[in-house]
Amino acid sequence: MGEIINVTVWNEFRHEKIHEEVAKVYPDGIHNAIGNFLKKQPGLEIRTATLDEPEHGLTQEVLDNTDVLIWWGHMAHNEVKDEIVDRVYNRVLNGMGLIVLHSGHLSKIFRKLMGTGCNLKWREAGERERIWVVEPGHPIADGLGEYFEIPHTEMYGERFDIPRPDELVFISWFKGGEVFRSGCCFHRGKGKIFYFRPGHETFPIYYQSEVQRVIYNAVKWTAPVKGPEVHFGNVKPLEDI
Ligand code: ZN
Repeated sequence: MGEIINVTVWNEFRHEKIHEEVAKVYPDGIHNAIGNFLKKQPGLEIRTATLDEPEHGLTQEVLDNTDVLIWWGHMAHNEVKDEIVDRVYNRVLNGMGLIVLHSGHLSKIFRKLMGTGCNLKWREAGERERIWVVEPGHPIADGLGEYFEIPHTEMYGERFDIPRPDELVFISWFKGGEVFRSGCCFHRGKGKIFYFRPGHETFPIYYQSEVQRVIYNAVKWTAPVKGPEVHFGNVKPLEDI
């Protein structure tokens, strides 16, 4: 095992406070549900941050000490200050990993990094989802079978308005007939981004072992590497010309 990966789990943390059916599923908030299973994994240091903390819990110091940021938001995307979005954006370009979960597809940070609308089709009918691994050699697929199922979930359907992913790890099928690119990898600057679809707030999806495994794998995949420091601009030739 190499160095410790510092993970910050960010949650908007509003549904859990105002919707009883969500509080029943995630009494301590989605951030703690995710943080608690990650704490049991080797090699990770976990902290959480939420929207209503000063600077949304994402001060420059916190971000400078974050290797991987996990993002869950839904009803209050517009309350995230642009200044904080810019701060996260710059950290991603400089190598911080970012895992965007479920309804985070419409977050300011994801849309800024994608450069597209990031919208999709959806339906809340509690239907079954079958998630197929389409890139079995990918590190994010480590430990999974050919597919796994989520018994009751919200449907997300194509078209998902994102740029073509650099790597596509999962495709979902839903009982109602739609399909969705549910595990998408992107590179932006030195940073790696993973979008993972599962995680609607009224279903206990973040307690499911395969989902937890994917998030853990994604933390390891998006974590920064010690690559070269790049110098841009005018340069002298390395050989005589
Ligand atoms: Zn949802």
